[in-house]
Amino acid sequence: MFDLSGKTALVTGSGRGIGLVLARGLAKAGARVVVNDLENDVVDAAVEGLRRDGLRAEGIAFDVTDREAIHAGIDRLEQDVSPLDILINNAGIHRRAPLAEMSADDWRLVIDTNLTSAFLVGQRAARTMIARNRGKIVNICSLNCELPRPSIANYSAAKGGLVLLTRSMTVEWASHNIQANGIAPGYILTEMTRPLSEDRERNAWILGRIPAGRWGKPEDLIGAAVFLSSAASDFINGHVIFADGGMRVSL
Ligand code: NAP
Repeated sequence: MFDLSGKTALVTGSGRGIGLVLARGLAKAGARVVVNDLENDVVDAAVEGLRRDGLRAEGIAFDVTDREAIHAGIDRLEQDVSPLDILINNAGIHRRAPLAEMSADDWRLVIDTNLTSAFLVGQRAARTMIARNRGKIVNICSLNCELPRPSIANYSAAKGGLVLLTRSMTVEWASHNIQANGIAPGYILTEMTRPLSEDRERNAWILGRIPAGRWGKPEDLIGAAVFLSSAASDFINGHVIFADGGMRVSL
């Protein structure tokens, strides 16, 4: 039920961090994974690492905010490698600033990279999925999709939008046997959150707020990603799984 053999999975922003760990997890479950990132050398290094471990991996570099580059990349991939069965919309960034001082550029960049990207890549991927009458889309949301913090209004708005985009994908594409769902990670240790974990006061606050009493690891998200990419979730649509050590349900 959880076997991904014979499936091809694109994970955006998978040169490092959560994306790379999810790509490895899907590959271990049997998928041929396609690594994406901005730079060719980052993609090549990640693909090499996966292949060295005996996993099936390909790579395509493109900017997830650039519609033309997305289409050119996925066209080439589907022609040379295989049609896409699974898309994980993972690429994301932070640009922190108090809301009253946040620049319009930082607002737009975060909305483009975390939300519009899922629309653009999802739309292109769904074109093939609709034609083949099957597909899995997993959007990497965030605990902040429901619970904002000061200085990340752009990020919270983007992730909240991503939840509603997941539901919109569901209402439009579920009849084509495409299951679109989300994963909302809590605090996971990566480069993105390093400034928080290295700030003693902030780190103590975070640990005190997580019922599980620890930071998450990217590996903590693999189970949900494999589940939502596999036949085990064939009648699960428009759902968001919170992987947060219980933070969302505690006061
Ligand atoms: P990360 O370590 O910063 O990795 C993000 C990856 O996305 C990097 O490889 C980055 O490439 C790539 N990327 C950024 N902009 C891109 C673009 N325009 N086109 C293609 N690739 C791009 O972050 P992470 O912690 O793994 O986060 C991954 C996802 O999980 C994000 O959507 C994030 O919002 C979400 N998330 C993370 C946490 C957490 O605690 N870490 C919590 C909730 C949600 P470069 O290396 O070139 O920058």
